[in-house]
Amino acid sequence: LGDFLIDPWASSSVDYDKLVNKFGIKKFSSVLKDIEDPLPLMKRGVIFGHRDFEKIIPLVNKNKEFAVVSGMMPSGKMHIGHKMVVDQLKWYLKKGGNLSLPIADMESYGARGIDFNQAKEMAVTEYLSNYIALGLDLTDENVLVYLQSEHNPVKNLAFELSKKTNFNELKAIYGFSPSTSISHLYAPIVQVADILLPQIEEYGGPKHVVVPVGVDQDPHIRLTRDISDKFKSKYGFIPPSSTYHRFLTGLTGGKMSSSDPKTAIYLNDSPKEAEKKVKSAKTGGRESLEEQKKLGGCPDQCVVYEMLVYHLIDDDAELKNVYENCKNGTLLCGECKTITAEKMKKFFEKLADKREKSLEIAKTLL
Ligand code: SF4
Repeated sequence: LGDFLIDPWASSSVDYDKLVNKFGIKKFSSVLKDIEDPLPLMKRGVIFGHRDFEKIIPLVNKNKEFAVVSGMMPSGKMHIGHKMVVDQLKWYLKKGGNLSLPIADMESYGARGIDFNQAKEMAVTEYLSNYIALGLDLTDENVLVYLQSEHNPVKNLAFELSKKTNFNELKAIYGFSPSTSISHLYAPIVQVADILLPQIEEYGGPKHVVVPVGVDQDPHIRLTRDISDKFKSKYGFIPPSSTYHRFLTGLTGGKMSSSDPKTAIYLNDSPKEAEKKVKSAKTGGRESLEEQKKLGGCPDQCVVYEMLVYHLIDDDAELKNVYENCKNGTLLCGECKTITAEKMKKFFEKLADKREKSLEIAKTLL
């Protein structure tokens, strides 16, 4: 790996080390060597942590049976940061995983008040069509896509699971108050049911399941693992494994947000807009050109470099060149932004070409 790549443990915005210590997430780097053909996101430390992923590795390496659960809550726009989830799903599908992709319309109703019809429309036009345009084959026989509100097995399981979960447990995890509505309280239980669904008899019984998430989703994982233990004797549940990825920093240096266009490149932006947004991104450049030539830039604090690491350069040697040339001051931000913006534009042109066809397929899925 060398020492040229970003160090997730030294991130300025999120203290990943603390998260690991506090919640018992383990470093992904400790299992990386055992994965025969890891994703660049794994090698580059974008996927930085895990729980029980060592149990998934032999299955991935040997193309044996396992399941992957990745929910999407229709509530806002998909942005370029979401692409990394799709990249992981593509990899797992190739490695023999069964993908289960619940659309959390019950959660978007309970937590955000989004109407079911609107959520369904959003799921098709914004999420599923982009997943397909990004290259995930949702028509594959090993992929299951469903709306929570229309899927009886998950609703039945959620109700059963809720019997052994009380208000205080949920309050301790999510901070709910006495005025929180029952539908909002219930939403996490439906998510737990989503994660455990591949292990019920109808879906082949107990098996290893992995859930790739951002660290903000870890409370759901902990709740699911607790509840899976409580129902172990009845269902034989195996506690789900999980992986944790870093967030792509927003264009302005803070969080990339689904609702603030200044911070994010949306997947439905035009290629021109995407190009322009890269050029507006915060860099790790110095105050003046002279200073940058003398001291070099700071790629570890640069949103443009992050885009290259996460999404735009597959070749490690090419990435290493950018890093080193930035550090030694031979690559300056103007040129670097132009190159990155061009790559982004090309990526968005390809996406735009696939949009119409992808939408047609997406419409047939729900
Ligand atoms: Fe970022 Fe590129 Fe500037 Fe380095 S040269 S700080 S990688 S934009």
